[in-house]
Amino acid sequence: MTLTVLMNAGPWLSVPPPGYGGIENVVATLVPELRRLGVRVVLASVESSTLPVDEKIAVFPDGQFHALQRPYNQVCGVSQAHLSGVVRALYARDDIDLVHDHVEAVGLATLAAMGPDAPPVLHTLHWDLAKHPELYGNLDGGDRVRVNGVSASQLARAPEALRAHSVGHVHLSTPLAVGADRHAPVPKGDHVVILGRINPGKGQDLGARLAHEAGFPLVLAGPVGPYHRPEDLAAAGDEARQNPDVRFFHDHVAPYVDGDRVRWVGTVAGRDRDDLVASARASLFPLRWEEPGGTAVVESLSLGTPVVATARGCLPELIEHGRTGLLTGDEEELGEMVLAAGGLEPDECRREAARRFTPARMAQRYLELYERVRQGAAQP
Ligand code: UDP
Repeated sequence: MTLTVLMNAGPWLSVPPPGYGGIENVVATLVPELRRLGVRVVLASVESSTLPVDEKIAVFPDGQFHALQRPYNQVCGVSQAHLSGVVRALYARDDIDLVHDHVEAVGLATLAAMGPDAPPVLHTLHWDLAKHPELYGNLDGGDRVRVNGVSASQLARAPEALRAHSVGHVHLSTPLAVGADRHAPVPKGDHVVILGRINPGKGQDLGARLAHEAGFPLVLAGPVGPYHRPEDLAAAGDEARQNPDVRFFHDHVAPYVDGDRVRWVGTVAGRDRDDLVASARASLFPLRWEEPGGTAVVESLSLGTPVVATARGCLPELIEHGRTGLLTGDEEELGEMVLAAGGLEPDECRREAARRFTPARMAQRYLELYERVRQGAAQP
């Protein structure tokens, strides 16, 4: 019998995302693999999503990227009760065998409250959970709701109540990894890249300072708050500073951006993004938070670019120090490590990605977890 999965990708961006988009990249990678394995996929997303699926439900008219990291019920200015109604209606369909949910807070609380009326649910945790316990306060009684992490270290930091619902972790693997086998190796340049949204946790300020001190060219790629292009941020004026990431950029990163040693190129996408990462001497992750899943870390390996990072969150799970990258507990060492990373072998990185982080492997692992969740839910 065909398994029908309702995949809830959230209200933030279309799937696949136009450029930046961690959750959306994962969904865009996972769904085609699941369908290849015979799964019927109903996608709950925004109207502008173009990913081929068996059925699409547009929960929001368009991406709500400006509301990233705000509580879900504030995204569209609707009440929690209204949103609970939407989620309830969505999940009450009787043709759904399992919900694979990527959206925190309201969705989970509603499901827990639905009790035996809810379909079995696997919820993928995407955040640093120790920092967001409030999102998961309401799992009590949600016996049909199970969670999975995106790394072992993420789950280890999760509140105990949440860990009790866990069925394990699945490492991430995204479209860059899909394209990597078709991506002919490009010649290495001199630059180092930091790919990711500009945010204190991702540490672009530290990376930029070290670029000047150690003397390596650094390209910062990624959005600043809702702004994808330098000219859009420049045109936005003072009001833009209400966004904390914009303030962070202006106060702590921009002073180092001289257009020469350190450049901010905005959000990069598609082939440009792949080439930027593949031609870099290293991908730098000067993290100040416990990185939960490290999408861009795995992408870098798949493109043959070694990773230099603070040994935080999932990094020690993904990177083998001395082979696929260099890790340190002392952020001041990162500059020297970047210079040493040229000695690492791009092929080792690609081999590691092909061995551990393929989309097919990710889909197979999710199928196993779906089965486990459904069996658990079938028990009295
Ligand atoms: N990304 C992109 N263009 C950019 C910056 C990021 O395509 O300019 C993609 C990146 O390749 C990755 C995702 O956005 O797939 C970011 O995910 P990550 O897990 O690194 O960041 P987070 O989800 O923590 O914001």
